Amino acid sequence: MLGDTIAAVSTPRGKGGVALLRVSGPDAVSIVSRVFRPKSGKKLAEAAPRTAVYGEILAPEVSGEWLSVDDGIATVFYAPSSFTGEDTVELCCHGGVLLTETVLTALLAAGARPAEAGEFTRRAFLNGKLGLSAAEALGSILEARTREQLTLAHTGMRGKIEQTCGEIYDSLCRVLASIYVKIDYPDEELADMSREEIVAVLEECESRLLSLANTYRTGHAIAEGIATVICGRPNVGKSSLYNRIVGRDAAIVTAVEGTTRDVLTERAALGRVTLRLFDTAGLHETDDPVEQIGIERANAAMRDAELILAVFDGSTAPTDEDKRLIERLTESAIPVVAIVNKSDLTEASNDYYSARFPHIVTFSAVSGEGMDTLVSLVERLFTDGKLDSRRDAVLTNARQHASALSALEAVRRGVEALRAGYPIDLSCTDAEAAMSALSELDGRAVSEDIVTEIFSHFCVGK
Ligand code: GDP
Repeated sequence: MLGDTIAAVSTPRGKGGVALLRVSGPDAVSIVSRVFRPKSGKKLAEAAPRTAVYGEILAPEVSGEWLSVDDGIATVFYAPSSFTGEDTVELCCHGGVLLTETVLTALLAAGARPAEAGEFTRRAFLNGKLGLSAAEALGSILEARTREQLTLAHTGMRGKIEQTCGEIYDSLCRVLASIYVKIDYPDEELADMSREEIVAVLEECESRLLSLANTYRTGHAIAEGIATVICGRPNVGKSSLYNRIVGRDAAIVTAVEGTTRDVLTERAALGRVTLRLFDTAGLHETDDPVEQIGIERANAAMRDAELILAVFDGSTAPTDEDKRLIERLTESAIPVVAIVNKSDLTEASNDYYSARFPHIVTFSAVSGEGMDTLVSLVERLFTDGKLDSRRDAVLTNARQHASALSALEAVRRGVEALRAGYPIDLSCTDAEAAMSALSELDGRAVSEDIVTEIFSHFCVGK
């Protein structure tokens, strides 16, 4: 319900320098006025908007009496000039766990309702302060682990996807209006677009939607991450490669075979790309039941992978186990990069591997040789170098991609029908279908279920 006033702690729970509580809704100022008394002696409602006001924070005792618990700062934002688009007060107190809870309890006692997860952002969306993709980007900012993810999320938050969708939507709207005029007044020259112009505009929409849909390859690689499995026989240096990429000693490295028995997993940046990295048990024949389970899990991870880093020991000749792996990987439908490791130990040639794999990297997990080559290779395989995450609209999740694809398909159908000479009114349905898919993408008309699903991933206070 939008008519009530919500409150939550927006900073993480725990001890900190300051904590920030947010109150949003029509009664925000009057509710906070019961909890906060400006030192100036003026009323909070008289304070200039968006200006810090110093004052005393009060909370109810068991006796029911309201007593001072802290000094703090309140800032008032009036609708529509606030994050949520509603009257909002941000209240800062010292960052003690009990103190923060006490202030929140005071706000609830004064008439606010506890905010649900993501409810501030949901209100901002419902009040038209930001589009749905921008709201998703805001969620990604909080989750970002790499600089590239941050850049992409920041661009998304500024409404880049909404802007692109809006432009295509407006073109389709013009086409539709023209077609309707032609249908309603077939004998008159009222429509502002000829059939040829309509085809040209639809083709332009098709090409823009194709470019937009194609950005997901890069957006997925940066924002969601590529499922990447490191595999190979025991002792070739899989765990050492894993540690090199994640930048710390996460996996145990020893000269003893079979140390990695389970699948280890972690997210790590490799250049622009995010890897959802899996280190797996060495693939070989073994009677050890624990290792056998590890190998089964390694095989399962390989089946779900989007990229395989197959590690070989370049300081020794390929073994039968290496050869079996190579045979299996030559049929792989997903990209495989052969990492010919331990280059610091040998000057040996890599011809054997380069004859069998389209992508090979001469590598040393000890010296770091080959890391730059691996980075540029993976970036080349999974991102479009021409896309600029600071400037371009980039789709970052499967929901956005599915909507872009269905808009694209609809426009394509329309263009094909017109090219085949069908009557112009047939393309109305296609233009409308494309507009509805675009509305889902940017959130201008989207089902309640999708909105609920998206905001449920946010934390309380956001
Ligand atoms: P895994 O069983 O495939 O995970 O291999 P590990 O990463 O545990 O490494 C096995 C052994 O090879 C360890 O003794 C590592 O120190 C050594 N090793 C791994 N990579 C390199 C490398 O690039 N150069 C050298 N010289 N030794 C390496």
